[in-house]
Amino acid sequence: MKTLGILGGMSWESTQHLYALINRGVAARLGGLHSAQLVLHSVDFAPIAALQSAGDWTEAARVLGDAAAGLRRAGAEALLIATNTMHLVAREIEQAAGLPVLHIVDATGEALLAAGVRRAGLLATRFTMEQAFYRDRMRERFGIELITPDEAGRAEVHRLIYEELCRGRFEPASREVLRAQVAALADRGAQAAILGCTELGLLLPVSSAAAVPLFDSTDLQARAAVDWMLG
Ligand code: GLU
Repeated sequence: MKTLGILGGMSWESTQHLYALINRGVAARLGGLHSAQLVLHSVDFAPIAALQSAGDWTEAARVLGDAAAGLRRAGAEALLIATNTMHLVAREIEQAAGLPVLHIVDATGEALLAAGVRRAGLLATRFTMEQAFYRDRMRERFGIELITPDEAGRAEVHRLIYEELCRGRFEPASREVLRAQVAALADRGAQAAILGCTELGLLLPVSSAAAVPLFDSTDLQARAAVDWMLG
């Protein structure tokens, strides 16, 4: 089994879920007492979130790059960035660590492509929805077009993520808000909705009733990690 390095804690609510999914995935494939061989660097999310709000991606990349270099020294052979948003600096993290990142857009794009999806809705932080890194990679590598909620919808989903989900609050009313956003994207032609923030699947699991099929980036990232580890 290859050794995976995880940059986690963004937030820890989703990292603990990712950790469980990867371990369950390895156990399902290898059986018995097998579990995932990995090293985890779990950051304090508050200073990272402050850098995001300030738009200081250079400093955020430096902090995560240092952590990633530490993961390499601890034996990691590839990296998982346990947040969609911080893939904005995936290239800088790869360079700092000298390790490849198993990219969350690739894991998600492969699943969408296999399902025949050509136009998908993206629910995520403002950073992921509004900056080009996620949308461009999805179009260039997979030919899949992404659409996002309108301004009010983006603001609401972003608020939900930072004010509730990253603080461990999972409210039924917020689940309905998310479901309504999925329906609005479906009305605009989305054939599927990407839960493109690692906490969203904790609120609205892919097994939930929704206007179109849901693709959970955490779930897909975990599967890609297990495939790579046991590849
Ligand atoms: N976990 C979230 C994501 O997947 C948001 C937290 C963050 O900004 O890193 O984007």
